[in-house]
Amino acid sequence: MARYIFITGGVVSSLGKGLMAASLAALLQARGYRVRIRKFDPYLNVDPGTMSPYQHGEVYVTDDGAETDLDLGHYERFTGVSARQSDNVTQGRVYQTIIQRERRGDYLGATVQVIPHVTDEIKAFALAETDDLDFVLCEIGGTVGDIESLPFMEAIRQLHNDLDRGQSIFVHVTLVPYIAAAGELKTKPTQHSVRELTSLGIQPDILLCRCEHPLPESERRKIALFCNVRPEAVIPALDAKSIYAVPEQYHAEGLDEEVLRAFGISDAPAPTLDRWTDIMDRQLNPEGEVTIGVVGKYVGLLDAYKSLHEALTHGGMANRVKVNVKWIDAELFEKGEDLAASLEPMHGILVPGGFGVRGSEGKIASVKFARERNVPFFGICLGMQMACIEGARNTAGIAAASTTEFGETSEPVVGLITEWMSKEGLQKRTAETDLGGTMRLGAYPAKLAGNSVVAGIYGANEISERHRHRYEVNAGYREPLEKGGLIFSGMSPDGTLPEIVERPDHPWFVGVQFHPELKSKPFDPHPLFAGFIAAAVKQSRLV
Ligand code: GLN
Repeated sequence: MARYIFITGGVVSSLGKGLMAASLAALLQARGYRVRIRKFDPYLNVDPGTMSPYQHGEVYVTDDGAETDLDLGHYERFTGVSARQSDNVTQGRVYQTIIQRERRGDYLGATVQVIPHVTDEIKAFALAETDDLDFVLCEIGGTVGDIESLPFMEAIRQLHNDLDRGQSIFVHVTLVPYIAAAGELKTKPTQHSVRELTSLGIQPDILLCRCEHPLPESERRKIALFCNVRPEAVIPALDAKSIYAVPEQYHAEGLDEEVLRAFGISDAPAPTLDRWTDIMDRQLNPEGEVTIGVVGKYVGLLDAYKSLHEALTHGGMANRVKVNVKWIDAELFEKGEDLAASLEPMHGILVPGGFGVRGSEGKIASVKFARERNVPFFGICLGMQMACIEGARNTAGIAAASTTEFGETSEPVVGLITEWMSKEGLQKRTAETDLGGTMRLGAYPAKLAGNSVVAGIYGANEISERHRHRYEVNAGYREPLEKGGLIFSGMSPDGTLPEIVERPDHPWFVGVQFHPELKSKPFDPHPLFAGFIAAAVKQSRLV
């Protein structure tokens, strides 16, 4: 039976609980244990798919087509374990399930209540599909004291009691702020946070204390005394040089050791951390650097492009170079900002995924710049669609080319996908379909043309990548686009949906309908990102 580690956060949000969970899982994995990480989100949306990236950051998509919290991206990047729908549940989904059941009459006349019905549903989620695991890490979103997270706190309290003794522990992540005027680290917020937690019936076993300065031994003892934990279980967590330095740093502070001790495990194998040492060496000792311009819409919030940023970093690790990412607001090019002046210093131009017409002409102009100036270009999802519209307009003579996403058009080079085959059978959509959970989502296979650039990059003719889109490039325009030099080098197996386009007469020009950034890992960089950065390195030697 799997052991459970429940992770809560206190004092303030944004302490990096997700990274902490991912790092602890990586450390347990490094000792040979099988791990899985789950996220409980207290908000009432059924999933984050309908939320603005400014509200929620990126929507992370799993192979099985779930639209999930971006923390699942960290989990997957740190452990290599593919996340699933069953690894992220929101309070909205819990209530949706319960209300559907109530409407069917499944509760047989009972009054449906938070305790036990909502808490039972949360517990069932935590326990599902865990037979083949040694450790399940459950991260509770939000901060202790939030009204919204109360049912989740109650559920993990109950679960701790339901499970055998020694089967579960609580880790609480807090902040120990530095007050400059006093020149001291302050432990009181941590004490209050733990008091709040114990008032809910949860006594933490381990405290992970985020701090900007080293935690003096005296303060460690004080926290231990007031919070009822052993001093060794108060783990200082200082800011790290890189997120990928966190596992080794937490190991040095004794986190995994304390976790094992809390479970009473004394015979655990020593961890093998070579892969982390290797990627940190690649990141901290680069042999060069490149600058990539990402021309997008949500550039004000880095979290909106979390996986993309990480995948670019991994591409840098693969080539032993530092990747400087310049986030460029596409809309500025529509408002008169000098495009050439902004893009000339770039060694590669990337147009990422996105939604809606705002900034699209700026993106199309950036594709044109990359094509004409022979600058490595990578278009992802909406970025590929923009590359096709640019190609249609400027190399195929279709001046009115556009996408139906932006309004009615006489030349729908990109249009709404109304039918496609999935593992579940034929999917049908219309313009009236609900927005939530109805895109073409999750892993789909694609066939690559044998002599294409991308087949060389992947070293394969058949691939599987994750999708999240409602529109598709219209295969009816294939002939004029290919005549203009834009080759359809990847298609869905039935040959109907364009998955990849490329320009063989360009140093590196690839557009993909899927999101390769979601599958990139530091110790296994995605081949498209490794290839794009390699092309940018070449470009940097030219300019
Ligand atoms: N808005 C486009 C579509 O729905 C692209 C989506 C994306 O980039 N993820 O097809």
